[in-house]
Amino acid sequence: MTEIAPTTPVDLLGLEPDALRHELEGHFEARGQKPYRARQVARWLYETDVRSFDEMTDLPAGERVALAEAFAIGEPEIDTVQVSSDGTAKHLWRLGDEERVESVLIPTEDRLTLCLSSQAGCAMGCTFCATGWSGFQRHLTAGEIVAQYRASRRWAAENGYGPITNIVYMGMGEPLANRPAVHASLTILNQGFEVGARRITVSTVGVVPGILELARRPEQFKLALSLHSPDSTLRQELIPLEKRWPLPELIQALEAFDDAGGRRITFEYTMIRGVNDAPELAPRLAELAYRLHAFVNLIPFNPIPWQDWGPSKPERIRHFADVLRERGVDVAVREPRGRDIDAACGQLRANALVQIED
Ligand code: SAH
Ligand code: SF4
Repeated sequence: MTEIAPTTPVDLLGLEPDALRHELEGHFEARGQKPYRARQVARWLYETDVRSFDEMTDLPAGERVALAEAFAIGEPEIDTVQVSSDGTAKHLWRLGDEERVESVLIPTEDRLTLCLSSQAGCAMGCTFCATGWSGFQRHLTAGEIVAQYRASRRWAAENGYGPITNIVYMGMGEPLANRPAVHASLTILNQGFEVGARRITVSTVGVVPGILELARRPEQFKLALSLHSPDSTLRQELIPLEKRWPLPELIQALEAFDDAGGRRITFEYTMIRGVNDAPELAPRLAELAYRLHAFVNLIPFNPIPWQDWGPSKPERIRHFADVLRERGVDVAVREPRGRDIDAACGQLRANALVQIED
């Protein structure tokens, strides 16, 4: 049998654990090696942060060379890393084709949350979002999504941050617009890296088929919906996708997710002064959240260069929180994290773009 060298080595980080085992067992079998070698490689990938096959020291030297010829461990290079005074650490990663995406590590008392990107840019064009303004470049592969986790885990360990406990798909991009890669990355993080499904949250602006698909998965991955308004007309002004899947349809999909059981939906509500913080919206938000058993995060708007909007006043945010609580809805007011390093959605890359364009 003649062997044809693949032009692009397969990125092992992008394979679901079953496919990884299959691929590696085939590789080792063709080389007259025992199947357990596949488990050794998987262990190095998932349980350690080695960057090269050469560091897989329980494999014979010849096997390490052969692995490096056939496969890649596709990790991004660090372009920049910024650490906020509150400990929030933002990475801008440089991908193989020079695209840049960001991820953010957010330490809190008992958690270390990683916020990762699912696309370079975003096509959804939400008017309040820096990523939306910077446009869509491309989908990330499953490997590129997972690699943000693995590279962040290494950086966190080296910099005294401890283990990553939670993952949110809230960086750049709309995860449910990149479903094949996002679903594969969920499987890899959960089955390969053993991050509990309940510790992984997918945030969407409301891609209905994607919500239904996530509802059908047997694992308990969590869902955050970027709601930002309980009123369809106002929501349309903020989120163009509202025209495609308006609130009534979106609510049906959320009900299906809620009915699938066991995991509470979160509503994200970015509060923009004079835009979506009118007092009469608070009871409507409460009604919707109550009906869907949703937890509500109120997030002060983080200003972006392209809009002269500002965050709601603290007393207005408190008012919303009070109305929600009075009506039996659990709510948290999210402190802005990493303000001094622009650690909100999409902002670092957008700033980099602004600098390039200057
Ligand atoms: N595309 C997905 C996930 C990425 S956005 C989504 O929209 O849900 C992650 C979160 O950041 C979303 O809730 C989004 O609404 C919020 N966000 C975007 N721009 C923001 C800003 N300028 N200030 C505060 N939150 C913002
Ligand atoms: Fe995309 Fe989410 Fe930003 Fe909207 S808020 S443009 S969906 S990243």
